[in-house]
Parts: sequence; C-alpha cells; structure tokens
Amino acid sequence: DPKKGKMKDVKKETGLGLSYKKDENFGEWYSEVVVSGEMIEYYDISGCYILRPWSMSVWEILHGFFDAEIKKMKIKNSYFPLFVSPVVLQKEKDHIEGFPPEVAWVTKSGDSDLEVPIAIRPTSETVMYPYFSKWIRGHRDLPLRLNQWCNVVQWEFSNPTPFIRSREFLRQGGHTAFGTKEESDAEVLEILELYRRIYEELLAVPVSKGKTSELEKFAGGLYTTTVEAFIPNTGRGIQGATSHCLGQNFARIFEINFENEKGEMAMIWQNSWGFTTRTVRAVGRDNGAKTDIPMANLAEQVKDVLATIQQNLFDVAKQKRDACVKIVRTLDEFTVALGQKKLVLAPWCDEEDVEKDVKARTKGEMGAAKTLCSPFDQPELPEGTLCFASGKPAKKWTYWSHSY
Ligand code: AMP
Repeated sequence: DPKKGKMKDVKKETGLGLSYKKDENFGEWYSEVVVSGEMIEYYDISGCYILRPWSMSVWEILHGFFDAEIKKMKIKNSYFPLFVSPVVLQKEKDHIEGFPPEVAWVTKSGDSDLEVPIAIRPTSETVMYPYFSKWIRGHRDLPLRLNQWCNVVQWEFSNPTPFIRSREFLRQGGHTAFGTKEESDAEVLEILELYRRIYEELLAVPVSKGKTSELEKFAGGLYTTTVEAFIPNTGRGIQGATSHCLGQNFARIFEINFENEKGEMAMIWQNSWGFTTRTVRAVGRDNGAKTDIPMANLAEQVKDVLATIQQNLFDVAKQKRDACVKIVRTLDEFTVALGQKKLVLAPWCDEEDVEKDVKARTKGEMGAAKTLCSPFDQPELPEGTLCFASGKPAKKWTYWSHSY
C-alpha cells in the first residue's frame, strides 16, 4: 500500500506517532512502542536486547522500591559468581531437568578447549546452596536471608520478546533459609505481596495472587506462588513474579543441616523468589484532559494529578482485565472462551493427567493453554461442583489461558 508506505516515512522522519494500533496488531505495536519509545534496541544476537536509559530508569525505580522493602525485612544483598561447575549445576536432578536446553556453556578459553566446560547460571539455587551448607551450622545462624541483583542466561529458543522473554535478563533472586516451615511459609507470602505492590501500586497493572499447579511449579521446589497478569489484547496470561517455598529438597541434596535449640540435627527450610526485567512492559496513557493549575499550589496539585492518573490507569487496566474473565463449567465452554481470548476461571480436579490432557487438546497456533494459578481469592465452590475437564469432583477454581 503506497499510502501506508508514505505515512510510515513521515513518521520515521518526525519520529512521532505509531504505524500500528494496539487493538489491531499487538505484536507489531509492542515492538514499535519499545523501540520508538527508546526503551530497547535490538542486538545482533537474537534474544538479547540493549536496555536504553529510559527502560533502565524504570528498572532502577523497581529495584529501589524492592531493595528498600527487603532491607526492612533484614534481608541482605550478596553476589555470587556468574559461572557454575557442571557437578554443582547437575546435583539436583528434578531442578536441572527444568532447564537443560536453556543452559549456555563456556567451552573454550581463547583457542584451547576447557578441560571441563563451565555453565553460565540460568538461575542461582545450585550456585549458592553449597555455601549455605558451609555457613549454616546451628540455630544461631538462622534465618539466613540473602538477595542477589544479577543477570542470568536462559538460552530460550521459542519466540524471544523484548522484556517478556529474553536470553539474558536482569533479576533479583532471594534465597533464604529458616529453621521452621512456618517461618518459610510466612516469608513466601510477604514477598508475594511486595510483587503485587510493584505491579499494582508502581506500574498500575492488576495481578492475581495464587498458587501454581504441581506441573507448573518451580522445578525441585515444594510449591510456587505467583502474581499473574493478563494481556487482554492477545488473550495471554503472563507470570509476573514468583515466590517459591523450596521445602527441604535442596537442603537434603546440598546437606544443609543445623543443630536446633534442643541440640538435635535438623534440616533447614528454604525459599527462593524473583522478579526480572520482564516487569519493565507498561506504556499507558491517561484521558488526555487538560487542566489549569494555579502556580500557588502547583507542587501539591501535581502530586494529586499524578495520583489520579496512576489510579485511573490501574482502574482502566483492571476493568479491561476483569472483563476478560470467563467462568466456564464444561470443556466446550472452555474451548469457546479460549477462542475468544478469555482469561478462563474453571472448577478443576487438580490432577496432573487432566492438566496435560487439556494442554494436548488445546495445542494450536497460540500454543497450548496452561494453568496460570489457583487464585488465593477463591470464589465459592459448592459441594458437588464438577471439574470442567474430567467430570470428577472439583477441588479448586483455577485460571487458565494461553501464556507467554
Ligand atoms: P523463576 O525464579 O524461574 O521462577 O523466574 C522468576 C520470574 O522470571 C518468572 O516469574 C518470570 O516472570 C521471569 N522470567 C522467566 N523467564 C524469563 C525470560 N526469559 N526473560 C525475562 N523474564 C523471565
């Protein structure tokens, strides 16, 4: 279309305006916004992106907020190396099974092959825990609560997308150890609430707090809690951040034991939790109304206006998200709702085979539908409610959708 070409040229010259509409072509619109908005620049290695000052400043704000909050919780920052030896990386089998194709390896130093290749951390559990074992001896060493701000590499092959899914990304990773499960359970939720605040209070993006299914939980952990966002334009769910209770599995493998108050040897309880540069996604616009503000109370009023804008952005996003939620009770209703790009809330029996079966049945252009989470805020589930997919008694309401 020559007209469109011309329009694009004009926009290119002025740098103003967007050639794609959010409602018509979300993918192209997103790319244009993040590139023309000078948030990222594409790089000559696929899946890697340059974070330009504008997006880095958003990351710094999120970093500043979260860092201050965890310091109030007496969590301390530390830094562990980027490289992991294969022995340590592969120590926890279930855990590493969740990552293997995504691990990048250093195999050469200059021209010579390394005797033993070295992995680049895809995540830091196995990097840290041998040292937890060394540092934790008695109950006085607990709790041990460390956080790390770092980059990780997950060499993903499917659809790299700026911020959402990149091969190298920035993140924080919290790694904590307690003497009791109660303390560890409490921290999981405390951190999850901070993640909710990042999305809802700082970025005006509504999220659902909940627990993932067994299939979707963090590999090697006990249970995973998550804040799930939903993008109405694409009908896809997106995992915002996760707070995992690791239980005692890593403690068993890395032999992290301590002498408790009774003088008995016991195993620690662990958590890990993280958010990444994925959280930096969200360009909003208010209603465009103009108001005059008298100079006298400028500072006060600007504060109010900003608070109102923030609230409006959140309210609009929440209305849009809520309008996407569709309650279904049968597989037919489920399939229709999915086709309409809905965020499906369904009564489910919580069985892994059923989850896998639903995934297999819904495999299509947009990928298979998956469980996002069982929201903590559960609608009533009257006795006798049946699972939408298996017809067995339902145990919980669970969100399903296509996802990133
Ligand atoms: P994890 O510690 O593995 O649960 O990951 C924590 C969070 O990282 C997830 O909840 C996602 O929000 C985010 N994440 C996962 N993969 C990527 C990626 N390839 N790029 C950016 N963020 C990611």
